[in-house]
Amino acid sequence: MLKRTVKSKSASAKCHVPRGAKLLHDPLWNKGTAFTDEERDALGLRGLLPSRVLTIEEQERRVLANFEKKPNDLERYVQLISLQDRNETLFYHVVMNHVEKMMPIIYTPTVGQACQEFGVLFRQARGLYISIKDRGRVAQVLKNWPQKDVRVIVVTDGERILGLGDLGAFGMSIPIGKLSLYTACAGVDPAQCMPVMLDVGTENDSLLHNPLYTGLCQGRVRGKEYDALVDEFVTAVHKTWPKALIQFEDFANINAFRLLEHYRGKVCTFNDDIQGTAAVTLAGLYSALRITGRALRDQTILFLGAGEAGTGIGNLIASAMTDEGMSPEEARRKCWFVDSHGLVVKSRQDLAEHKLRFAHDHPFCADFLSAIRTLKPTAIVGVSAMPKTFTQPVVEAMSELNKRPIIFALSNPTSKAECSAEEAYTWSKGQAIFASGSPFPPCVYGGKTFVPGQGNNAYIFPGVGLGIIACEARHVTDRMFAEAAKALAAQVQENDLAMGRVYPSLQHIQEVSAGIAVAVAECVFKEGLASIRKPRNLLKFIRSKMWAPQYRNYV
Ligand code: NAD
Repeated sequence: MLKRTVKSKSASAKCHVPRGAKLLHDPLWNKGTAFTDEERDALGLRGLLPSRVLTIEEQERRVLANFEKKPNDLERYVQLISLQDRNETLFYHVVMNHVEKMMPIIYTPTVGQACQEFGVLFRQARGLYISIKDRGRVAQVLKNWPQKDVRVIVVTDGERILGLGDLGAFGMSIPIGKLSLYTACAGVDPAQCMPVMLDVGTENDSLLHNPLYTGLCQGRVRGKEYDALVDEFVTAVHKTWPKALIQFEDFANINAFRLLEHYRGKVCTFNDDIQGTAAVTLAGLYSALRITGRALRDQTILFLGAGEAGTGIGNLIASAMTDEGMSPEEARRKCWFVDSHGLVVKSRQDLAEHKLRFAHDHPFCADFLSAIRTLKPTAIVGVSAMPKTFTQPVVEAMSELNKRPIIFALSNPTSKAECSAEEAYTWSKGQAIFASGSPFPPCVYGGKTFVPGQGNNAYIFPGVGLGIIACEARHVTDRMFAEAAKALAAQVQENDLAMGRVYPSLQHIQEVSAGIAVAVAECVFKEGLASIRKPRNLLKFIRSKMWAPQYRNYV
């Protein structure tokens, strides 16, 4: 009799392969038309598939032909997600071979539109939904998850989806997309990934009146009841899968900062909007300084937006400056913020807790342009979700002050960017060192082609996550993100910089992530937070943990 068990690459445990139609409907096992004749006989598939056996490359060709035929990116998103629901190996084979083309579809900007239209696009559930009504039984809900060895969880409560605000349960596409990037960019086994929506209601009126809304139709639960649900979730996860990393994603800043502070010393967790964004921006800044030839300590950075992303970046830059010998106060004084009420200064009475450390003793400025004129920054960073706020006078003022002004318009999706790549290059007469949150196409100015860098968190969190789960870190520290930023910047080549790109090409993202994972793992061991013995060759060890999208032989 033929054996129907295979050794799973990641878990090294013997897994039972489902049979017949059940196998064709299990995306982790399904190979579709690639099942061989022997497998079709052994697994009860004879007759359930057309006769011809295809290779994964032939299947890929079909997927790409279909992809090109779609009339728009949202249709391409639907095509790819449907493929992911049918056959994960083929999905990742395609995405990993064409990462530059596929990332804007499975993540920002298209994922933003997918969240907004989640109700219409919904075909089948993916991920785990835990609602406020599940209080008292969250551990039981976790038991319904079909996989036994969960290592990475991305969880959202849908309150601040990209720059689009409260999308409630429609925000589930974000954890799904982020986890796809864990696999596509860093080879984290998809069977070990779990997207989670904490559904506590929504304050979005149009969703509450939308008959196709998929979440709880009630206002957001806040306060003690909310905290109790989050706590029950974190505790249950820690008990069920003690090696799992929990990534908090797209929470509103009223919750994001305090949840991070509360849990960072207790379980293995981080907040990508705060810490991941900080690392990717610091890496971009390191690269920009290779172009300007100036030191980090000589920079003055002015942020538009003082939320999770902005103050997270400010904190990491200040700590990197401190590492270079500045005092923490001096370093913080190099970072300035303008929020929706103007320049963040000491005299203001309306500042939230997370802004206070950047509230310097300085006269108040009501608007961004006058803040630029007063503070003379070398870099401006847009994290306000307010489109078109880096106006022509703003870019021109930066160009008057700096030979090579650093202009990072990071707000997502594209519709929220503070300025476009073309605007930055044109208004600065080709002098801007530009990066954005969502991708912009190359543009030509003065006969030169500029390839704008995308300050995409996908450069950071998959590699950081891989390093953390590989050595089973107990906690995640800011130092790990600082090391990740350095490792990312080190992989930017001179030819990238010559094109104006402050990040490496996404084409090499898996190598980039492996390099970041090594730097992070090194840091985990140094900080005494690993739960395993340090391997002799860290790179070899990290590579051995990376899942590859290849079909397994079942017979
Ligand atoms: P947040 O809600 O925590 O913060 C937004 C901030 O912008 C607040 O401080 C608010 O006061 C300020 N703001 C609002 N209107 C303003 C105005 N008119 N002028 C000046 N400031 C204004 O959100 P966040 O998590 O910090 O994210 C902000 C943006 O950054 C989003 O669009 C998000 O997609 C983007 N982001 C990009 C990346 C990336 O590209 N790598 C990563 C994370 C976040």
